[in-house]
Amino acid sequence: MRMKIITDVHTHTTFSADGIDDIYTMLARAKQIPLAFWGISEHFDYDYLADNITIHGKPIPYTDAEAYFTAARAIQSQCQDVRVLVGAECGFSRNQRAKDMYHALIERYKPDFIVNSVHTQGAYDYYEAAAFADKDKHTAYKEYLCLVRESLDVDYDYDIVGHLGYPTRFAPYADKTLDYAEFAHELDDILTAIIAKGKILELNSSVKGLSTPCLPFPQIVERYFSLGGRKVSFASDAHGAERLADGREKVVDLLKTIGFTHITVPCQGKHYEQKI
Ligand SMILES: [Zn+2]
Ligand SMILES: [Zn+2]
Repeated sequence: MRMKIITDVHTHTTFSADGIDDIYTMLARAKQIPLAFWGISEHFDYDYLADNITIHGKPIPYTDAEAYFTAARAIQSQCQDVRVLVGAECGFSRNQRAKDMYHALIERYKPDFIVNSVHTQGAYDYYEAAAFADKDKHTAYKEYLCLVRESLDVDYDYDIVGHLGYPTRFAPYADKTLDYAEFAHELDDILTAIIAKGKILELNSSVKGLSTPCLPFPQIVERYFSLGGRKVSFASDAHGAERLADGREKVVDLLKTIGFTHITVPCQGKHYEQKI
């Protein structure tokens, strides 16, 4: 039987403020699984910096880029069995200061891949209840989708559109689903732009108790396929070794049911197709 190619391209270690396990513990787990491709994507939250965003009223500690890229590149050059990809997750902001900082980061460290994510709206990360204060679900989700659409046009390069539907992880509504039919216009606009730009739609298995195997919700992944989208990546968004590759089987089952035949792994501007 053909050996399964397992990829997980969007994970965090303790170089990110919210990481649980260090890079060596994560690598040991990646070898044990074994992952064929392990993509590290530490948080670079320059949206926080540019927009003065805090968590619970406190500024967040930032990833030390120099320390991270040095350690991760050393692991990458030594590791034979797992192909390590040294990436970055860039939190989108409308603020030009954040964009300039991402340009400088990319220019200096040349990450193997970049996850373009929307985490924040105004003064808050969706992680905080205040991001939803006084907003009904339709208003909050529509604002978020508008930001995602803008994020696709950033002038720095990126490969992957991260966790489309991020606010649903933390939303205070009884039904947190981001329903395709309710936002068909906005979602079609996003999905067609992803396809036109040749970007990768991430299937992120960090769903925090939601009744879906991944973000985006399956209906949205189906719509992406029917519009012609074929580039998808798998992401556990693990912040510790225990969750590496978590939920992958369910996500692959969903992809196969829809009709996808490959998962895409980005590295240095090239996209590699791995059969599922
Ligand atoms: Zn994220
Ligand atoms: Zn992440």
